[in-house]
Amino acid sequence: MLDVPQSATAGIVRYCEDLFRDLNFESARAWKAAEPGRKVIGYMPYYIPREIIHAAGALPLGILGGGDQLEVIHGDAYYQSYICRIPRSTIELGVTGRLDFVDGMLFPSICDVIRNLSGMWKLMFPGVGSRYVDLPQNFKDDVGGVFYQSELNEIRHWLAGITGRPISDSAIRASIVLFNESRRLVREVYALRVEQPWNVPASELYLLMRAGLVLPVEEHNQLVRDYMASVREQQRPIKDNSRVVVSGAFCEQPPLSLIKAIELSGCYIVDDDFMLINRWEKSDIAVDGDPVANLAYAFLHDSNSTPPKYEPDLARKGLYLVESVRKNQAEGVIFAMASFCDPALLDRPILQDILKQHGVPQIAFKFAENSGQMQPIREQAGTFSDSIKLWSGT
Ligand code: SF4
Repeated sequence: MLDVPQSATAGIVRYCEDLFRDLNFESARAWKAAEPGRKVIGYMPYYIPREIIHAAGALPLGILGGGDQLEVIHGDAYYQSYICRIPRSTIELGVTGRLDFVDGMLFPSICDVIRNLSGMWKLMFPGVGSRYVDLPQNFKDDVGGVFYQSELNEIRHWLAGITGRPISDSAIRASIVLFNESRRLVREVYALRVEQPWNVPASELYLLMRAGLVLPVEEHNQLVRDYMASVREQQRPIKDNSRVVVSGAFCEQPPLSLIKAIELSGCYIVDDDFMLINRWEKSDIAVDGDPVANLAYAFLHDSNSTPPKYEPDLARKGLYLVESVRKNQAEGVIFAMASFCDPALLDRPILQDILKQHGVPQIAFKFAENSGQMQPIREQAGTFSDSIKLWSGT
C-alpha cells in the first residue's frame, strides 16, 4: 500500500485485497452455501443489468480474468496468441474448476472475443446456463429502447429458469433502489478522490471497486461508507503530483502493480474507466413505473461513454474524455490499454486527436493483465508527470 497507516482504512483495503487475490471466489462460495437454493451468476466486463440478477435473489459475480496470479496453461490452447489475455485466463478459471459453483454466465456484447467466449462457454460447460447479452447500439427509444426492453425481459425469463421462480416488478424496483445507493456512494468516493487524491490513492479505490464485483451490493455499500468515513478521519501527506485520467482499461484489467507504478511515478489518478459497471449510469435510475423500461431508458440516455459503446453523434465522439479532464481538473491523460484490445486500440487515435485539439497532454502504453516489468511504465509516467509540471503551465 502507498503511505497507508495502520488504521481502519488499512483494514478495509487489506480485506478488499484479499478478495481481489482470491481466484477461488471463496466469499461468493460462502454466500451461496449460506442458504440452500442460492444461485450465483457470473458476468464479464463491461456492463450487464445487475439489478435483474439481484432481483432474482442471485449474486452477480464479476469475472475479470485471472490477473497476474494465474498461470494460463489450458486457456492458451483455445485461442490464438494475438488476442488479449482475459478470455484465455477466464477459460483457465473455468477448466481448473475455480468457477464450478457458478450457475450462469452472462457475456455482454463488448467485442468479438467475448462473443466467441460465450459460444465456447456453452460448448465447454454445457451444465452452466450461459447467455450472450446484446446491448443496444441504437439510442432511440422506439428502436434501441424497444429492443433492449425485450432483451432485458429475456434475461429476466432466463434467470427465472435458473432460480426456479419468477422475478416480480417490485423485486426489480427494490434492486434498483439498492444499486442507486451503490452508484451514489461510488460517485461520492470518486468525488472525494478528485478533491483529495492524496487521501484516496487509486490503488485503494481500485481494490474497493473490485470488491463490489464479488460482494453482495448491500455489503459493498457499507464497505464504501466505512472506507469514506475512515479516510475522512485521516490526513496523508500531499505530494506535488500531476493529476491524470487513465483511459482504456474498461475490460481486461491492468495488474495492481501497474496502477501503483503510475502513482509512484508522481501522478494522482483522478479519473479512470476501470470497472465501469460500478458507475455505468450517471444518475439514479427511476424507481416508479415499469422497472424494465426504466433500466432501458437509463442505458440509452444516462450511461457513461466508452469505446465499446457506439456514439451516434460524430461531433461528440471522444468528447467524454475532454469533459472528464475538465471536470476532474486533470492535467493529462494516460492511455493504458490491454494489448490486442480492438475496441480500445481502434478508438485511441480518435481520442488522441481530440485531446490534441483541446491541448491536453497524453501518453500511451499497452499492458497485459500479467505484465510483470513495471520500471518502464514508471519511467514513462514519471517523465510525463515531470513534463506536465515543467511545460504545461498548470
Ligand atoms: S480486452 Fe478488449 S478485445 Fe479483449 S475481450 Fe476485452 S474488450 Fe475484447
